[in-house]
Amino acid sequence: MTDFGVVLDIDLSEEKVKTYRLPDDVIMKFLGGEGIASYIYWNSKILCSALSPENILIFATGPLTGIAPGAGRTVVAGKSPQSYPEAFTVSNFGGEWGTELRYAGFDILILRGKAEEPVYIWIHDGVVEISRAKHLWGLGSFKTREKLVQELNDEEVKIITIGPAGEKLVRYASIIHRSGHAAGQGGFGAVMGAKNVKAIAVRGVKRELKVYDPQALLTEAEKVKTLVRHLGIVAPSPVYKAYEELSTAPLTEDLIPLVKKYMKRNTGCHGCPKPCHVYIEIPEMDVKGEMACVQFFFCWLQQGYRGYADEVCFLAKHLADDLGLNVYELLQLIPFLMTLYTKGHIPKETATEIPFEKYPEKEFIEILLNKIAMREGLGNLLAEGTWRYAEKLGLLQQYLSLDDIEETLASFWGPVAGYGGYGPGARGYCNHYDPRDYIVSALLWATSHRDPWSSSHEYVAVAHWSGLEFEKQRKIAKYAWGSEEAVHPPGSPSYNEAEARATIVIQNRTCVKNSLILCDWLYPIVISSDASRDFIGDLELMARITNAIMGTKYSEQDLLLIGERIFNLERAILIREGVANITLPEHLFKYPQRFTGSPPLNRENFNRLLMTYFELRGWNSKGIPKREKLFQLDLIDVVKFFDEKEVLGE
Ligand code: SF4
Repeated sequence: MTDFGVVLDIDLSEEKVKTYRLPDDVIMKFLGGEGIASYIYWNSKILCSALSPENILIFATGPLTGIAPGAGRTVVAGKSPQSYPEAFTVSNFGGEWGTELRYAGFDILILRGKAEEPVYIWIHDGVVEISRAKHLWGLGSFKTREKLVQELNDEEVKIITIGPAGEKLVRYASIIHRSGHAAGQGGFGAVMGAKNVKAIAVRGVKRELKVYDPQALLTEAEKVKTLVRHLGIVAPSPVYKAYEELSTAPLTEDLIPLVKKYMKRNTGCHGCPKPCHVYIEIPEMDVKGEMACVQFFFCWLQQGYRGYADEVCFLAKHLADDLGLNVYELLQLIPFLMTLYTKGHIPKETATEIPFEKYPEKEFIEILLNKIAMREGLGNLLAEGTWRYAEKLGLLQQYLSLDDIEETLASFWGPVAGYGGYGPGARGYCNHYDPRDYIVSALLWATSHRDPWSSSHEYVAVAHWSGLEFEKQRKIAKYAWGSEEAVHPPGSPSYNEAEARATIVIQNRTCVKNSLILCDWLYPIVISSDASRDFIGDLELMARITNAIMGTKYSEQDLLLIGERIFNLERAILIREGVANITLPEHLFKYPQRFTGSPPLNRENFNRLLMTYFELRGWNSKGIPKREKLFQLDLIDVVKFFDEKEVLGE
C-alpha cells in the first residue's frame, strides 16, 4: 500500500503545526490532489468569505506525484475570491514544488488562520519553520525567490510565492513557482496574502517515495513515452507541426518565429516525458523565464486587435507572473476594459490613468498591470475582477445582455483562444472551445465547478486538435466515451444521449487525473500518434501506473467510479455554498459563433439534453444528487447534510 497521505496542518494564528496521516480508506476513496482537497474542504465546513482567516488553503499532491511520468503538478484548493460569487474551486500548478514537498516528508499542506505579520514557511525534511518576511513583502515573485534562495543558502530549494497582487488581495492573484509555473485560476495568491504568507520554501532529501512494483512502473513509463503527443496527430497544418517541433502549446502563428528567436531550450515539470514550456530570454527587455500556452495571453490580444503579436507579449507574461496576476482573468478583463473605453463607459477622471490609446503596446500593459497589482486608482476597481467591476459600474446586466459580450469577444479574439474567467452562470464566458461548436463543451461549461477546459483536454484532443478524419474520430469516441455518436463535426450537434454520457465520463476521468495527479496535457491517453493502433490511445494506462505505484488493483472503471464520487462531492460543496446554479450565458442561444459560423444553441434541445445528463448522473431535475446515488458513492455525510437541510425537498 502507498505511503501517501501525510498531512502538514499549520495554524498560522496560533503558530501551531500538526502532522498526521489520512486513513487508508480515505486515500482509496479520494486518491489525492483534487479528491483529497474536496474531502478536506467538505469536512472543514467552510462557510466564511474567501479572504477571511477561517478559509483554509490546501496544497495537495497525489500518490503518483514525483514518481510517474508527467506527475509533477500540485493542486491548490479552497474558497476562491476570484469566483463570482465566491465559491470552492481548485487550481493547480506544475514544476517541482509538489515533488519536493513529498521528499520533505509531506503530501498535503493545509494553511489555516492568519499570521500576525508577513511570514514565509520553510519546510525541510520533516522540520517546519515559520519565519518573518517583512523584508520580502512588496517584492515581485522573482526577486522573492532569488532572495530566499540566498537566505536559505540552497540552490535546490523549491519555492512558491506571491507577488504584490497577492499581498494587496487582488481577487485573481496567482501563486508563482520557478519562472513560469502558476496556480492562476481561483485567485489563491490572494488567499495566501490574506493569511500573510509571502512564500513557502521546501526541500527534502530523506524521504524515499514508495513504489510497489518498480519494474511494472518502468514498463508503463516506456509506453507513455511512445504514446503521448500534444497536438496534430496527423499534423494537419504546418502551424500544428511547428507547435509539435517547438514542443509547446498553441500560440498565434506569427509568434512562432519570435519563440524560435528568443527560445533557449524546452523546459517543464519534474519527470515530464514531453516538456511543453519554452525558456525565453530577451535581455533588452529584462525578460527571462519559462512560458507556455495561456501565458502568451497578450499575443492573442495583440493578434486579435491589430493582426500581429510582438515581443511585448513576452514582457506582459513576465510582468504578470512577477506581480502575481492570473493571466486567464486578464484575458477577459482587458478586452472588456477596451470595449468600455471605446464606448465611453469609463468615467473621464479614471480614463486618464491608463494610456488606452497605447493599447496593445508596452506602455499600456506595464501601467495597467502595475496599477492593478498595487490597487492604485482605477486599478483598485479592476483588482476586483471583470464581473465585480462591471457590477460596480452598474453595467453588469448590460454586459450580460448579449451584444456587448459578443462584440468584446469578436473584437479581441481569435477562434482558438478562450476565456476561463470566473463569472456568473457557467462561471466564465464560455468561448474556450465554444459550446456552439461542441455540445459536449456546452454541457461541461454548464455543469462544471470551474472553467472546464484548462484541466480537461481529452475531448478537444480528438475533436479539435487531432486533425484525424471524422470516421477515425468516431472510433476513438466509441473507445473513450462509449459511442461513436459522442463526436460530431463542429457546429452540428445532435443533442443526443451519447454526448451527455461522454461529458460525464470526461468529468469523472478528469477528477481521477487531477487526484492522482497526472498532467492534463499528457493524460488520459485517449488518442495516440500510433497509426497501427488506428490512433487509439491507452486509457487503462492510468490505472496500470497507479497500481504499479500504489499496489492497488484498480481498473479504468474502478477509477472512474472514484472520479464520480469526487465530482458528486464537489457538487455537494457548491450546493452547500448556495452557488449550484446550472446555466449558460444567453448569447450562446442567440448568436452564431462568429469565427466558425456554428449556429446558436437550440434552447429546447439543450434543456432536454441537460435533463438527460441529470438522469444519467443520478441527479434530480434541479441538478442535486439523489439519495440513492450518494449511498452508491458512499457519500454518507452528504446524505446526512442534505437530510438536515432538506436539500432534496422530499
Ligand atoms: S506537459 Fe507541460 S505541464 Fe504537463 S507535465 Fe509536462 S511540462 Fe508540465
